[in-house]
Amino acid sequence: MVYVELLKEKESELTQYEIKELQEEVRRLAREKNAVILSHYYQRPEVQDIADFVGDSLELSRKAAQTNADIIVFCGVRFMCETAKIVNPTKKVLHPNPESGCPMADMITAKDVLRLKEEHPDGEVVAYVNTNADVKAVSDLCVTSANAVKIVQKLDSRKVIFIPDQALGNWVKKHVPDKEFIIWQGFCPPHFEFTAKEVQKLKELYPDAKLAVHPECHPRVIELADFVGSTSQIINYATTCDAKRVIVITEVGLKHTLMKKNPEKEYIFPESMNYCGSVYCCTMKGITLPKVYQTLKEEINEVKLPEDIIEKAKRPIIRMLEMST
Ligand code: SF4
Repeated sequence: MVYVELLKEKESELTQYEIKELQEEVRRLAREKNAVILSHYYQRPEVQDIADFVGDSLELSRKAAQTNADIIVFCGVRFMCETAKIVNPTKKVLHPNPESGCPMADMITAKDVLRLKEEHPDGEVVAYVNTNADVKAVSDLCVTSANAVKIVQKLDSRKVIFIPDQALGNWVKKHVPDKEFIIWQGFCPPHFEFTAKEVQKLKELYPDAKLAVHPECHPRVIELADFVGSTSQIINYATTCDAKRVIVITEVGLKHTLMKKNPEKEYIFPESMNYCGSVYCCTMKGITLPKVYQTLKEEINEVKLPEDIIEKAKRPIIRMLEMST
């Protein structure tokens, strides 16, 4: 036990033995406290492995809404933890690293949305779920990358104010040509800044591979793809398509799930290149195993939101959950 206490101080370079020890302790605590551990696909492998459920934003919101656990430990960025609190407000939601926000979510404020509404009173505000709670509270509807096209197609209003991701907004616009779009110019730094030139180099290195990309990528990267989809849609495509090799342009944490689902294939992520970067989200990786352990053990880092924000932000999320069934 003293040994496990010491491990919580170590943020990195845990040995395989230490990781296993800490993982067992986290699972024991979760059973003892009736806690559920939810993890996004972009989390570190050793964090994904202790989760009761690993999923994308939509799947995790559903799990959070349905759980009977007393505590939800959410291994993801801040807006995801807020969403869990909004859909299941009586639960204690714990965020292992309150510093882990999403840079794209921070690119728009509630004030910006209210101004857009004033400028376009005939438009509906469609907010990517990657937004902060106060922004959701002034939005009409939420979407995820998995359901955005389908949901926007179902909307009655002809004008869509899409926030905050320009890449996803343009992707939806392309698939819903009968509507007018006002698109906020936010972006996901890890996805959007990975260039088409870098993707071309990967294609040349692996000419037999298929290319799967996330819709948060730059439109010029999207143009090169064989498949465009959310993380869960990419998992399905990459593990079942007929190619033996798949180049995947999304956050590198997804590789862990792909290898588990179908280890027969080769998944090429930009991390394997010896030049220029990778698609790596630093804030997602701000959640470490020692932090999860400490947060659950001491029941710290509880997500708190004002009641009126919970009430208002719930409407666009519930509307999304209903429209995406
Ligand atoms: S991958 Fe992009 S959208 Fe997701 S949390 Fe990181 S910065 Fe935000």
